[in-house]
Amino acid sequence: MLVVRIIQNIVCGIIGTISNGEVAADLYDGLLGLQHRGQDACGMVTFFDNKFKVRKGTGLVREVFSMESLLELRGQIGIGHVRYPTAGARAGEAEVQPFLLNSPYGLALAHNGNLTNADKLRQELEKKDYYFNSSSDSEVLLTLLADELRSKAKKTLKNEPIFAAVAEVMQKAQGSYSVVVLIANFGLLAFRDPAGIRPLIFCERATGFAKESLIASEPSAATLLGYDNFKDVEAGEAILIDLKGNLEKKQLAKAQHTPCIFEYVYLARPDSVLDKLSVYKARLRMGEKLAKQILKSELEIDVVVPVPDSSTTAAITLAYNLGIKYREGLVKNRYIGRTFIMPGQEIRKKSIRHKLTSVDLELKGKKVLLVDDSIVRGNTSARIVEMVRKAGAEKVYFASAAPPLKWPCFYGVDFPTRAELVAAYRSLDEIKKELGVDALFYQTLEDLKAACGEGRTDLNPHLKGFCAACFDGNYPLGKIDVEAMEKEGKQC
Ligand code: SF4
Repeated sequence: MLVVRIIQNIVCGIIGTISNGEVAADLYDGLLGLQHRGQDACGMVTFFDNKFKVRKGTGLVREVFSMESLLELRGQIGIGHVRYPTAGARAGEAEVQPFLLNSPYGLALAHNGNLTNADKLRQELEKKDYYFNSSSDSEVLLTLLADELRSKAKKTLKNEPIFAAVAEVMQKAQGSYSVVVLIANFGLLAFRDPAGIRPLIFCERATGFAKESLIASEPSAATLLGYDNFKDVEAGEAILIDLKGNLEKKQLAKAQHTPCIFEYVYLARPDSVLDKLSVYKARLRMGEKLAKQILKSELEIDVVVPVPDSSTTAAITLAYNLGIKYREGLVKNRYIGRTFIMPGQEIRKKSIRHKLTSVDLELKGKKVLLVDDSIVRGNTSARIVEMVRKAGAEKVYFASAAPPLKWPCFYGVDFPTRAELVAAYRSLDEIKKELGVDALFYQTLEDLKAACGEGRTDLNPHLKGFCAACFDGNYPLGKIDVEAMEKEGKQC
């Protein structure tokens, strides 16, 4: 039997919109606002004159879409996707989203997340004579939805059978999925898995005689377009918006809302409010809590230096609460992609060397406390420590705003196997040695959860806690055989 290795998608960004005018320019701006969630590939699908219009390719949004291609993407409804692939290798153009299916009804889908039972679902669908053009779990999700629609809906589509089909998808699909679907001649459908692992927001605005609507991974896709008043698509909820802008929501599965805590640490933009919790405030509190721990150590520190960019917010409050100078002693070359999500070790190593330079005057002869959002493999951190020592630092200490990463993620983030995670099998002293630092501090998981807003039922009564499985190994969506998944190469 041919075994197809399912390629999962990570840290993707999705968007869908219905407008009174052409949507291509809005989708383009929206995708730019989501570019931090994936820089490897992107795509857009619109619907016009009874046909799908499609443009997909590998590269950044501004590289894939030209003015000419945007003019061809006619229509008042469309969806888009920015992607970063997992499975350690750069996936080809066949894997670029959105995915399309012409029958039944005409569907285009963009997905952020990772199905943990994609292989099984694919085999079941193949037995029903469905064929696949890619090895992506997102195409499996699209085909599953199409199959359920085929059995639930009549010739003319209505809301009820669509909701019934999504309810079945939620029963069958395991893992994380925030999804937006363009249904030809009908409207937009969006839904989020019962644990709400990946974020999904929607917003509306009244223009002229009809409403315009937008659904996206983060508000940053919509603020550029003048939208405000963002609402979350709740865990286990689906939303349907017809072509006139009429919106209906339905809770289709019992929610066990445990969003990904790593969105607050690193993935999401600091200006995002996800599940009613501010990413920026969470990062400020991460710094405050780390400061309390470091104060107890009575270590002598001259300067706090963030590893740019996602640790700067935490480093500011950390320095403030320690009463120590904050200095930008490392400067990032902004035009090189985020390193830990780059596929392939060679590319990763090369990009670390080109990623940062040091401001030697701020480091020379100083006892430097470096602050980063997290430590994954440890290779980036070790090279930064080396760079700071070369710049003349007397001592180099390191603080991580997140606890030790010990487990792989199966819900859509490109963490490696435990063997590659520097903290998986090492003691604090051994990690210290690996990084080459004089002292090492990790946030405790308890403090991280508190910083992100666990227990803030005043802000979000639906929140049951966070997924923090990469820190504690407690996977919220049922038992996972980590060893077997690692052997099969299923870690993201
Ligand atoms: S395992 Fe970690 S990265 Fe993955 S969803 Fe859970 S918290 Fe997020």
